[in-house]
Amino acid sequence: MLAAVTRSPGVMVVDDVPEPGPPGPRDVIVRPEAVGICGSDLHFYTGDTGALSGARSFFPRIQGHEFSAVVEQLGRDCPAGVRAGDRVAVWPLRGCGRCYPCRSGRANACVSLDLVGIHRDGGLQQLVPVPVSQLFGVGDLGSEPAAFVEPMSIAVHALGRAGIPDGEQAIILGAGPIGLATVLAATAAGARVMAADPVPARRDLALTMGAENAAWGGDGGLLDAVQAWTHGPGAPVVIDTTGDPGALAQATRLVCSAGRVVVVGMSAAAAPLRSGVFPEKEIDVLGSSCATAADFRSAIALVQAHRETISALFSHRFPLTHAREAIECVANPAAGAVKVLIAVGGPG
Ligand SMILES: [Zn+2]
Ligand SMILES: [Zn+2]
Repeated sequence: MLAAVTRSPGVMVVDDVPEPGPPGPRDVIVRPEAVGICGSDLHFYTGDTGALSGARSFFPRIQGHEFSAVVEQLGRDCPAGVRAGDRVAVWPLRGCGRCYPCRSGRANACVSLDLVGIHRDGGLQQLVPVPVSQLFGVGDLGSEPAAFVEPMSIAVHALGRAGIPDGEQAIILGAGPIGLATVLAATAAGARVMAADPVPARRDLALTMGAENAAWGGDGGLLDAVQAWTHGPGAPVVIDTTGDPGALAQATRLVCSAGRVVVVGMSAAAAPLRSGVFPEKEIDVLGSSCATAADFRSAIALVQAHRETISALFSHRFPLTHAREAIECVANPAAGAVKVLIAVGGPG
């Protein structure tokens, strides 16, 4: 069967690989359909794994952590609810079950996280074994929106961290796929949203996803826009989805006193920050990592309810044989990519 193998940083080759053997008792062999490519895939591909956990060896790896798939073959101890032919979305995360976060019901922050497509082989191949506990049925969702459940689950988790009451104003920094998913999930939950992004086409998409305002203008211009929108000194909630290390300092300027800043975007880089702003404004800063199984279920419901709106985010499609071009498309700002999808297609 075919797989896109990232052999070493910057080297991805589409090659024949052996098909998986029979599934383990509680594993399922699935046939990936649509695989979303995101900024983390690009970081991984370029060997920038500093923002990922630990000093584990990652290569060679078959990437792909955002994907829809069809159930092909079930292990003998899989529950009766899963049937061959079902379309599923894959919750890529498995915790160790022993560390403090795992014991606290927060496997998404596990100290030795195991992610499909990062720590083990993922969706960029024609067949892949996945534990049945990580498969979620998506009903009548199409393969492309079903591949957006994973990024939507990141947004759902970030919103859970933010705890935005109905009608409260939130600034979402970055209108890439995660930022846009966060705009949709926040407005669906009743928040009033301003999106901030330097790219005009992304600001337009944020309005399509439900934002009432979309702005840019660098730091000062954005602060003015936020103050005009909130009629005051900032918004109660700022969610950073940019992965830009400078965004946390910016968020501390845009948030009002007693507000919350949620950091979703990942970066290994350092950026200067004036620590006095935290006590002065009594800001809560909350990290948000991946998503829980409950977030994943909520994300399926959100994608089901907003599938037409979400389809506007699928900007580029490539076949598995062109997986490297798909990654390069995400890397190239001139391509104007939002969500890039790879269609895998079955073996033989
Ligand atoms: Zn992703
Ligand atoms: Zn753990």
